Amino acid sequence: MKTTTTAQQLGVSQRALDLCLDADVIDLHVDTFIPVRLWGYDVLQHHGRGTLNGYYFGHVDLPRMDEQGVTGAMWSLTTNPFRSERKRFSVLQKNRARYEAMVAASDGRMVITSTPDAYDRARAAGVHAVLPALQGGNALAGAPDLDAWLADRWLTRVTIVHLTDSVYGATSSPATDRKNPHLSARGKEIVRALDRARIFVDLAHIAPQSFWDAVEVHDPALPLIATHTGVSGVVPHWRNLDDAQIEVIAKSGGVIGVIYAANFMSRPGGPRDCEMVAEHLEHIVKVAGEDGPAIGSDYDGAVVPPKDMRDGHGHVKLVDALLRRGWQEPAIRKVLGGNFLRSWRKLR
Ligand SMILES: [Zn+2]
Repeated sequence: MKTTTTAQQLGVSQRALDLCLDADVIDLHVDTFIPVRLWGYDVLQHHGRGTLNGYYFGHVDLPRMDEQGVTGAMWSLTTNPFRSERKRFSVLQKNRARYEAMVAASDGRMVITSTPDAYDRARAAGVHAVLPALQGGNALAGAPDLDAWLADRWLTRVTIVHLTDSVYGATSSPATDRKNPHLSARGKEIVRALDRARIFVDLAHIAPQSFWDAVEVHDPALPLIATHTGVSGVVPHWRNLDDAQIEVIAKSGGVIGVIYAANFMSRPGGPRDCEMVAEHLEHIVKVAGEDGPAIGSDYDGAVVPPKDMRDGHGHVKLVDALLRRGWQEPAIRKVLGGNFLRSWRKLR
């Protein structure tokens, strides 16, 4: 990947930048399609530090991803969590068309990528791989024929529930009027349908009871995933996964993508910068070994990243922090993309 930005400009070591530019760097959750959809944000332009100074939106664009060697990302289609069930599926179809138009407008700099082999080809060609991902699985609840819609495997993953309880199950968010903590019969159905289509079942955002219900119904031969999360072993929070959850995902051959969101991750007296993210990664390594962790920034997902990661250059800063903390390069490569690619190949 070409870059004109120096390590000095990014405020990191040359070794950290070189490692990022050489590795597979795959961010498992980027929500930049939200500003594209809502106010026509141009992903091809370099937006400097971002429109809101790094708060909530404006975190990334293709040039800033290229500068730190992001070779691929799960670009999420996130629908409004409060929209009625009935309209969701038609909105999803419209959004899919707009999403494809966004990629088509990149003039070959981005490509929709639905298999590991297609990713490898994109990487070899120096093209950013866009892995379509759905957040808020109930957007599929109105599909007339779910298996048929999933059959082209356009989606890489589906986050079963988002910020509200749905026909599928319960969210971990406390801002909900909880009637039932379990995965519903339809929730079990979607897990099975995703397994059949070899699309990742994403357990970010899901309430603990629904999480374990999904694990029970999921095909144990296939990897699970949590694309963007913190861990409660560092700081207990409704948005974070506990050790048993980390373990079961890692045992399935899946990965846990660590989010860059200070509000879920900062512990009292702990660091407020990229070291915070490093602590969560290290906890996952402690619980599940170095094959468990990945990255899932949640950039442009209305989160506030740690203070030094708000400019969108968080990946290379994280790598710099991991090097300072004594991590070896092979383990860092696993976190950046190696673990996810291994898991994806097992799934597909
Ligand atoms: Zn999310």
